[in-house]
Order: sequence, then structure tokens, then C-alpha cells
Amino acid sequence: MVHKTVILAGGKGTRLGSISKKIPKPLQLIDGIPILHHQIALLARYGINEIYIIANYLCEQIEDSLQEIKKQKHLKINVHKESKELGTVGGIKEIEHTLTEDFFVLYGDIMLDVDLHRIAAFHSKNNSDATLVVHPTDHPRDSDLLGVDTSNKIIDFYPKHVRDLDAVHPNISNAGMYLFSPKLLPLLTEGVKADFGKDIFPNVIDKLNMYAYNTPEYLKDMGTPDRIEKVRKDFKNGIVQARNLSQKQKAIFIDRDGVINKFVGYISKPTQLVVFDNAIKAIKKINTSNFLAIVITNQPVVARGLCSIEELQEIHHTLEFTLGNAGAKLDAIFFCPHHPDKGFEGENVDYKKDCRCRKPKTGMIEDAVTQFNIDVEESYFIGDTWRDITCGTNANLKTILVGDTQQETNVIPTSKAKNLLEAVQQIIK
Ligand SMILES: [Zn+2]
Repeated sequence: MVHKTVILAGGKGTRLGSISKKIPKPLQLIDGIPILHHQIALLARYGINEIYIIANYLCEQIEDSLQEIKKQKHLKINVHKESKELGTVGGIKEIEHTLTEDFFVLYGDIMLDVDLHRIAAFHSKNNSDATLVVHPTDHPRDSDLLGVDTSNKIIDFYPKHVRDLDAVHPNISNAGMYLFSPKLLPLLTEGVKADFGKDIFPNVIDKLNMYAYNTPEYLKDMGTPDRIEKVRKDFKNGIVQARNLSQKQKAIFIDRDGVINKFVGYISKPTQLVVFDNAIKAIKKINTSNFLAIVITNQPVVARGLCSIEELQEIHHTLEFTLGNAGAKLDAIFFCPHHPDKGFEGENVDYKKDCRCRKPKTGMIEDAVTQFNIDVEESYFIGDTWRDITCGTNANLKTILVGDTQQETNVIPTSKAKNLLEAVQQIIK
């Protein structure tokens, strides 16, 4: 259990222009309630009872706004005024004596609704010292990105001001929330203005176990007046709350080859990927609905020895980066690298097995259901072969067969469509 959280509420909010001159960003109202108060309510719901708010700009206003909340006996709220403006890091260093166990860090201008228990479980399962909550962006080309291995361990940072903007990286970026072990604290320097993303993380990556927790839940910063308006609308429409993974989610599962990208036989290199235009439109449509977009793909290329797991991951990063630059995002990709038939030249014997994940088996769907708390009855599988339709049917999903497959089969989909876009249009009217 995590009991402590630090909220970084010191920013000046210069991008907000005149609207933040009198009211600091954490006190901007969403549905009549300051963001900071929404954050405290979320934390309290998950049993966090010690909250440290590091403030600077208009600190007195922040303190005044908390008078009522502070009367709640189970909550211990401390406002710490930075001795000077210390960026996002210096303020934490000033209160480090109180941070003796794992603690969340949250930026005061982020509207969020996330399942904190899931983050904490991920953090402890991986024995992580620093877990960064991340999500895909709809503009990866000019975002600060980070690199992960197949177990989501962070292996590199790619800040936009130092990297080649055309180079392909995983489309994941910082969402503004961390879970830290106190092991981080000795690595921070006192009295120095610093920023986690730019100054700290790239320098501690070889000293700490750092993990990326990738989530489709709602976390949005309120950096500009436009974004505040967007968040207000989302909150009103229930989108902020509905994405919390403690609530059942709806998903559209999608096969990869022949549905999202052109079928060209086995794909073992990123350059072989040709993404369909209709697929980009379809995924964008899913992204603006209340469905998750999740790829479920058999990739026996690994078992056949045509590429390694790392190379397959590079192919998927390329797919996500390409989609991301067109404004579309996948919430997850599940793949089966196995194949049951042994005895071929060049094969990778480690992956030659009768696994639980190769479609039409339902192992990948089951993993996704657990990870994202998916309601199968409300979810769909879109694919172009009998394997996809059988897998979807076996997993109790509704199924849509796309393309003009001529295969003789007695497998019957719920419906048919020309391509992914048409299939998605059937689901989301
Ligand atoms: Zn498998």
C-alpha cells in the first residue's frame, strides 16, 4: 500500500496567459471544483492519507482553498512553500525527511482519474524504484519519448531537444505521474532547480530500476486555455471517470496483418510495414469513442527464426510511431511469437511450442481482459481469417470478418465488412 503523495503545485502557468495571473493552475475549476481538490479526492479514495503540496506561485491562495478539506480527520495535508523556485525536483528534496516509504508524485495541473492500486501492484511486481506513468501521444514526432524493453523496463530517454526527430522510437511519453522509492532521494541535489524529465531521469537510469506503466486512463495537463476547455468537456461527458481501469472497459480487438497493414507474407523488418489509410481513420475513430484499440496478432516469425523478439518489438514501435504521427493510437499490442511445429532449419527452438496464446486460442484476449478490466460481452474482434473469428467467438466477443477472403470455412462471424474502417463504422455509429 502507498500512503504518501507529493503534489507539485509550484508552476507559474505562463502558457495560460491572463487566466492564471490571478488563479494558479491547480486552482482552475473543473465542474466548479479546483483540479487540486479533484486530485486530493482521488488520492483519498485509494487510501492515500498523507499529501504534501509543494507550492510557490500564489501559495497563499492554494493554502486558503484547502481550509475545508483539511478538517477531514483521516487526511494529513501539508503545504510546503519552496524556499525559492526550484522547478519540479528541488521542492521534493526539501521535504525528503518525510518521504521514508514509496510515494506518488503528481503535477498539480493534471486532471486524472486512474486506478492507483494497479500502478502500485505493477511497481511492486517489477521491484521498481521509479515507475513512470506513460501514454501514447498523438504527436510523437515532436514529443519527449522513452524507450522500454519487452518487460516495460525503461532503457532510454529520447528528449525532443536532443534526438533526431525523424528517428523511430516507441510512442510513449510521460503522463505527469510517478511512483518513487525513497532510493531516488539521495540522487537529487539540494537547492538546485531541476526537472525530472530533462535533468534527473536520464542521469539515474543506470542507478535505479525504472519502469513505464502504460495506461489508457485519463491524465491530461491543463497547460493552455484550449486544453482546460477540452478537459471541462470531457469531465462533463463522463470520459474522465469512465477510463479508470477499476471500471469495466469496452474494447475492439484487431488483427494486424491484412487488417491494419498490407499482407505481404511474413514481416521481419520495419520497412516491410505498409499501413492502410482506412486503418488510420478507423483507429482514430476508436480513439474518440469509449472503446480501447488493442492489437491481437500471431507472429510466428520469431519461432521461425526470421527475426528476434527485439526486432519484432521494433516493428511494433514503428507501427505505433507511424499511427501516432497520423494522430491514431493503439492502447496495446499483444503478440504470440510461438509456433507448434518443430524441426525446421533456422528455427528458434525456444518459441517452438504448443502455447496458450496462438490464435485461435484465446490466451492473448484473456491477458488483455485482465490488464484492462474488459467487458467481453460489450467488445469486438475484427480480423480477416477464420483464426480471428474463431478466437473471437471462443472468447465470447462479437466478430467482424473483413476483406474478401475466399477461404472455405464453416466459421460464421457476427457480421462482415470491406475493411477495418467499415467494420469500426458498424460498431460506432
Ligand atoms: Zn503463443
